[in-house]
Amino acid sequence: MITIAIDGPSGAGKSTIAKKVAERLSVEYIDTGAMYRAVGYKVSSLGLDLGDEKALKDMLASTDIDFVSGDIILDGVCVNDKIRTSEISQMASKVSALGPVREKLVELQRAMGKKKSVIMDGRDIGTNVLTDATYKFFMTASAEERAKRRYDELIAKGEIITFEQVLEDINARDKNDMERELNPLRKAEDAMEIDTTGLSIEEVTDVILKNIVTSEE
Ligand code: C5P
Repeated sequence: MITIAIDGPSGAGKSTIAKKVAERLSVEYIDTGAMYRAVGYKVSSLGLDLGDEKALKDMLASTDIDFVSGDIILDGVCVNDKIRTSEISQMASKVSALGPVREKLVELQRAMGKKKSVIMDGRDIGTNVLTDATYKFFMTASAEERAKRRYDELIAKGEIITFEQVLEDINARDKNDMERELNPLRKAEDAMEIDTTGLSIEEVTDVILKNIVTSEE
């Protein structure tokens, strides 16, 4: 069994690359950001007050999150196409700072990492969720490049948004993710750092695969 952890800020290309590596190595891809997004989506749909800890805990106790064939399933319903809006990005970032949310999702993620070989991406995988992962990578890129990638994605999906709004959104999420008290975004000491600025998807995938192949030889 191998476990691969990929961390880094929003828009660094983690999920695109992790999916490719998962395919090449025939391991399961687990997108932990989608799990925080699913909780953000539920909070937003219910209009839950995030300051109401009892309501939050009750909601989490009756929340079921799983992946089935790569789809994110929230309480039995696929929410793939509901969780990628800019509104849910901000909500995911907010709920991810809350202790009860992190406790529940980290426990689920650790259980997923024990069952089979996985590649898991997020913010705290190498530093917290899978501290003894076989391979750890930390992907970065300039805020402008990350905003450009996210902007292109959102526009392709038909969202009406400006580049400046997306850049602001990325900077706000970076700040939340790096400055929060619980499991902040940082590079694990034993992670290999890859700056993806100016690199193609294939180039980054190759760097990761070569690193894994070299270590397995
Ligand atoms: O990776 P993605 O942008 O989909 O993640 C959505 C949000 O979930 C992030 O902004 C971050 O705040 C949170 N997150 C987290 N820990 C993870 C994965 C995501 O706090 N392991």
